[in-house]
Amino acid sequence: MDFTVTILGSGAAIPTTERNPSAQLVEVRNNLLLLDCGEGTQMQLRKSGVRIQKINHIFISHLHGDHYFGLIGLINTMHLLGRSQELHLYAIQPLEELIKMQLELSRTTLLYPLIFHPVDPEISSVILDHAQFTVTTIPLNHRVPTCGFLIREKPEKRRIRKDFLKTARVPVAFFDRIKDGEDYTDENGHVHLNQLITHDPPQVKSYAYCTDTAYYQPVVPVIKDCTLLYHEATFMEDKAADARAKFHSTAKEAASIALQAGAKNSDVDGLLREAKEVFPETVLAEDGLKVEV
Ligand SMILES: [Zn+2]
Repeated sequence: MDFTVTILGSGAAIPTTERNPSAQLVEVRNNLLLLDCGEGTQMQLRKSGVRIQKINHIFISHLHGDHYFGLIGLINTMHLLGRSQELHLYAIQPLEELIKMQLELSRTTLLYPLIFHPVDPEISSVILDHAQFTVTTIPLNHRVPTCGFLIREKPEKRRIRKDFLKTARVPVAFFDRIKDGEDYTDENGHVHLNQLITHDPPQVKSYAYCTDTAYYQPVVPVIKDCTLLYHEATFMEDKAADARAKFHSTAKEAASIALQAGAKNSDVDGLLREAKEVFPETVLAEDGLKVEV
């Protein structure tokens, strides 16, 4: 399981005993990413047994409080626990000023570098290009500027067949070149075609996090063929007018996005049965749920 999503909070604006405000932890090839940080996220991380100092990247979808009211607390706890490594924060610009002001008023000088990356929620762009994965913004349609995030693994190199390695005694110096797709010429001048001595790497997986949004068709090309889609659904179809007025989605609309995008699985927040009628591979997002991408 080298790519998982843990739902830390799946509720609406007001926390309840069953549902915390929005936050999700994504583990991709041993990197921990936090998507949104509603109030109570620290406690949810502790309950899940996560080592919070391992989180190096936090992404905030928009500035409704239920998506970021837990952020200053988490930033402060990392400081109190003696963090020294960089923390990268991705959000729309005003959040940087807000965090700075909160730190200044409490006369807190962080022990670690907090590096702010402003995002433009209106265009889809790669905001993090890591050696093992990328994070791309997904413009959404909500009452305030909002974007989701698409996390996609980078392709791994080809894998050399074990039976070939046993018989051919390939010098270690050639391993990387073979993994990059080169043929191998042995000491007798015999050429071994790369296709015959390697396996394809595992298929690249991706996770699309589409939080608060009305039904918004332009999402589809951005998240096309994602492995797992999380899409909010605040209303049933009989309340479609309310959904539109409040810039949220119905379960049917969420499932329709999953279908159009060709997602392999979808994780819908609330209202499971209606979503399943349109997109059968839907599971209900509940706090504490861990899903393999
Ligand atoms: Zn919102």
